Amino acid sequence: MNIVLIGMRGSGKTTVGRILARKLDRELVEMDELIAKRAGLNIAEIVEKYGWEKFRDIEEEITDEVAEQDNIVNAAGGGVVTREKNIQELKKNGISVWLKAGVNTLLERLGEDSQRPLLVGKTQREDMEITLNERKPLYQKAADLAVDTENKTPEEVAEDIIKSLKKICCLIGDPIEHSLSPLIHNAGYQALDINYLYVPFRVKDFKGAIEGIRGLGIRGASITMPYKARAIEYVDEIDRVAMETGAVNTIVNNDGVLTGYNTDYQGALKALEEATSLEGKKAVLVGGGGAATAIALGLKRGGAKLVILNRTEEKAKRLAEMFDAEDSGGLKKLDEISSADILINATSVGMWPKTNESLIPQNLLHNKLTVFDTVYNPKETRLLIEARERGCAIVYGYKMLLYQAAMQFELFTGHKAPLKVMESALTQALEGGRHATHFDRR
Ligand code: NAP
Repeated sequence: MNIVLIGMRGSGKTTVGRILARKLDRELVEMDELIAKRAGLNIAEIVEKYGWEKFRDIEEEITDEVAEQDNIVNAAGGGVVTREKNIQELKKNGISVWLKAGVNTLLERLGEDSQRPLLVGKTQREDMEITLNERKPLYQKAADLAVDTENKTPEEVAEDIIKSLKKICCLIGDPIEHSLSPLIHNAGYQALDINYLYVPFRVKDFKGAIEGIRGLGIRGASITMPYKARAIEYVDEIDRVAMETGAVNTIVNNDGVLTGYNTDYQGALKALEEATSLEGKKAVLVGGGGAATAIALGLKRGGAKLVILNRTEEKAKRLAEMFDAEDSGGLKKLDEISSADILINATSVGMWPKTNESLIPQNLLHNKLTVFDTVYNPKETRLLIEARERGCAIVYGYKMLLYQAAMQFELFTGHKAPLKVMESALTQALEGGRHATHFDRR
């Protein structure tokens, strides 16, 4: 998990970067230095000999390499934002911090340093004014955090950054490109006008990411595929539900003590209980993975009579033993649905892009049945459409996603989650087929 400092030359990226690297016990990487080293020339010489385009090409190459590093402070070049691809790369595993300053301050800090060739103007001032004007919107778009550096010492700027990190929450998983969690959480933060930010990280090295959370003082993390089970080994404390389900989907950092929770369980239970009671009901749960485990615990605690069916029968049997189910087996036993009150699909069948699939034959669906599909993308799955046609009550998968996120929100911020705002951000995204990307976190 990297810190990427962006901003104009003279904004203090190297000086602040050096202090941050020391305080956070990380290596400082200066991209301009790497570019010069690669070309065997200083920046003025590269530009004179080959022009700015060539300089930007080398910068792009170096950006890709630096983005693969972990736990560094990266003092990026001032113009790194001029290519959107650079920022997308750097943000896959990094928090971008824009060091802001006005033209007078930037020129004052640069002093007589004219090593750097002019980009556009005839004088340093003219060049700075035009370039800053052009780049401001790019920095704004690229920045996760913006820190004003005017009238502050580099030490104070570094302290401001460290303080802001304590209000960052993140998503850790791989892949995470299409996750809607950043959208839901950030909509909530904005509605309450609290200074939190939620960022997604595509993580290859899970242990390194956990060290990053601890080392940077990041407030909390949502954990998604494929790390939910492994996360148990890396937390200091674990709540009972996470222990019983064997999966952690939420980590809260209290001054370096990491506690693991599982909010999928409450999310699923709340979604289901809005539509039906559970006590004494026969529930057929289809699935044998992480989601099925959390839901099985919820159904059991709610007093339902559980039947667990899964493509891989052994997994269904293992869950049935864990949660004392009435029966279990493979998908050939799906006709159990005919006498059930509740049906839950906790498999990935029906998920985008294979939206035309369903494991459940429509003739097994009947009008006494409540059907809950954990698949939330698309919102209207084939199973839910067919269930509605047969007169079943239906529960959308997005409700589980929403409620588990709301619980995370409350654990991270201590504030009650603004459910309506979060729900509307989520449903608008689902209905519009829109997905958050690394670059567009808000
Ligand atoms: P998982 O641990 O990987 O489990 C996947 C499950 O899907 C297994 O039971 C697997 O069966 C089954 N499956 C996959 N392809 C299948 C196929 N072609 N035919 C029959 N069964 C198939 O994943 P998970 O985390 O439990 O997620 C399962 C679903 O829950 C996903 O759709 C996910 O989006 C959803 N989910 C939703 C929320 C929410 O908030 N709404 C939260 C978490 C998960 P085998 O065991 O035989 O491989």
